[in-house]
Amino acid sequence: MDCVRSLDDAPVERGETVTRRQVIGEAVRSGARGEFGALIPVRPAVKEIKTCLRGHWLILDLYDKLAPFSQRYRLHGWLCEVCRGQEACEPDARRLAEWALLDVTVQHPPDAAPTGGLVLVAHPPAAGTLAGRIALHLDGTEVGSVTASPCGKCRTATLDYVHVAADYRRLGFGRTLVAAAVARAPSYRWTAPLPDGPVAQSFRARIAMRRAGPPCAHVGGAELRR
Ligand SMILES: [Zn+2]
Ligand SMILES: [Zn+2]
Repeated sequence: MDCVRSLDDAPVERGETVTRRQVIGEAVRSGARGEFGALIPVRPAVKEIKTCLRGHWLILDLYDKLAPFSQRYRLHGWLCEVCRGQEACEPDARRLAEWALLDVTVQHPPDAAPTGGLVLVAHPPAAGTLAGRIALHLDGTEVGSVTASPCGKCRTATLDYVHVAADYRRLGFGRTLVAAAVARAPSYRWTAPLPDGPVAQSFRARIAMRRAGPPCAHVGGAELRR
């Protein structure tokens, strides 16, 4: 692959600061890159994006960035031109140049969830339990879920279980689900158990939560039922 030509093909003029609004106005879309349908990484939306997924600074106006809209997820996101150039030179590199942002505070009831794009669906706890479940749906199909047990009396919560379907791993779906659970009770003290197996442990070790202690004595709370 001719890396130099790939870099020269970058569509945005060098030295120009690209704001999110300008780029959205030009309707830059994932599909325009010939990758319609490809799954890009997802991250919980935050107020300010400081770096790309490889740690390249985006807020210092060093290189260009775009704000494409992912048709696949129906979400807005960012595209780091430094990463795009690197991935053009290294076809085997992970695709991290473009990622989509999901607002984890938007969680739909099961009977009213959108059937297109990537959305969070909140299931209330079963009767007599504390555990609520939040699922991640892609085009109406569940691709991952998280269960959590909050206690309003103790103001604590335990992250019980995170699961992502095999075809949808290494995209950030798991960490997005964890953020969605925490968003239900952000002021609580969160803990999580320690799983077995290297993959689960690698995921767990990136979650900034202490290990879970014995469960509290309260039953019947329903913090996720709202
Ligand atoms: Zn980058
Ligand atoms: Zn309790």
